[in-house]
Amino acid sequence: MYQNDIGEPIEIDIAIIGAGPAGIAAAIELSKLGHDKNMLVFDRENQVAMTSRHCDHQGFGLMEFYRPMTGLDYAMTLERKAKEHSVAIKLKHSLTHINGDILTFSTIDGEIKYIAKRILFAMGARETTRSSMAISGGRSPNIITTGALQRFVHIHHRKPFNKAVIIGSEIVSFSAIMTAREAGIEVTGIIEEEDKIKSFSILSYASKYLLKTPVHTSTKLLSINTEDKEVKSITISKNNTEQTIECDAVIFSGGFVPESSLLQKHLHDFNLLNRSTDITHNFQTKDKRYFLAGNVIRGALTAFNCYFEGKKAGIAIHKSLQKNDIPITVKIEIGGAIGWCYPTLIECNKKQKYLCKIRFPKHTKGVLNILLNDKEVMRQEISAVPYLSITVDWFNIPIKKSDRLEVTYKEEQKS
Ligand SMILES: Cc1cc2nc3c(=O)[nH]c(=O)nc-3n(C[C@H](O)[C@H](O)[C@H](O)COP(=O)(O)OP(=O)(O)OC[C@H]3O[C@@H](n4cnc5c(N)ncnc54)[C@H](O)[C@@H]3O)c2cc1C
Repeated sequence: MYQNDIGEPIEIDIAIIGAGPAGIAAAIELSKLGHDKNMLVFDRENQVAMTSRHCDHQGFGLMEFYRPMTGLDYAMTLERKAKEHSVAIKLKHSLTHINGDILTFSTIDGEIKYIAKRILFAMGARETTRSSMAISGGRSPNIITTGALQRFVHIHHRKPFNKAVIIGSEIVSFSAIMTAREAGIEVTGIIEEEDKIKSFSILSYASKYLLKTPVHTSTKLLSINTEDKEVKSITISKNNTEQTIECDAVIFSGGFVPESSLLQKHLHDFNLLNRSTDITHNFQTKDKRYFLAGNVIRGALTAFNCYFEGKKAGIAIHKSLQKNDIPITVKIEIGGAIGWCYPTLIECNKKQKYLCKIRFPKHTKGVLNILLNDKEVMRQEISAVPYLSITVDWFNIPIKKSDRLEVTYKEEQKS
């Protein structure tokens, strides 16, 4: 690795973008394989694993580190492990541009460029904001996401408002209730447009009876009513009847999408279904230089999934540097109702048993098929909860470049 005085890119073997569970796990694995001297992890934040660090609740660590942890404990463990394995991390480095193997970062010292042989994008996911949902009404600093609420409460120890409503009903929405309660904020209700919550039904009862927060399903948020940039109420519609709920804050929760705007702008093969780039089982893209792991491939899933994906990607990067070959792949065609599929590229001429992960954006029951050259090679009955992935057994047949692969889904007819 060298620093060029005339502003040319700094050469490294491996660049990892994102110091969350996926990026750090990959870096540790690569360090164990001898790459610690020519690898850098970059993150735009000023601390490692900021997404998990915000979560001051249990639910982390058991699968990877064999003990239950809070998000903060988990982030500190990742940081410590990275240090133990001599992983070099560049914080406050925001990736702003990708040009082939040249990466441009915005830093407090100005723009810095690196050139890397292999790049792992592990940039995580972000929650859907009010602006992307086109909700009418005024603007206010008290219209925020769960992540921002957690930052206020757990990092800055502030109570930003008194009475909030939560928009969305994924698991993270219930985490938002816990955080709000911890700060002494009243949550008057959860608003969900769909007829069922976008998580396990039991959470709806737990919310109503244990947390005293009702969940309003089949309810649409029409507007956020503000005066002088202060939230006064929201207007909702249920069964074609409009109603006003008083509150001084609105928390948009969930609706996670991959943090992939940069990839969309600079990488070929951006896949709009996944809002990410096509990848193989080894998290490699069609371009031998690029790998993706963690929530950037799909939106939110638990940290341990991201950690193990990062680990696998790390090993694949090591092998790819050794072999320096380009994977020959067939892209899977994916049927409409399916929200996400991993992998989307199958490597040719490899006889191995694969697992395939699939997610749906809504509750659904039906039959999933995998077709090879229009012939069914796998059929599985499934019952899906939104945004939780279903693992299906793949098959054991080597794929040829000329083969056609398709995943289809037929929903059970409601009687
Ligand atoms: C409110 C909430 C509650 C949660 N609760 C749980 C739980 O109880 N249990 C659980 O297992 N998981 C939980 N999670 C999910 C868990 O935090 C994530 O699954 C995990 O952090 C994802 O890991 P990742 O490495 O893919 O991405 P992240 O941890 O999000 O890391 C991505 C990193 O990339 C950086 N980055 C992004 N873009 C750039 C750029 N352009 N330049 C430089 N750096 C960049 C970000 O700063 C970030 O640090 C929760 C998440 C949230 C938001």
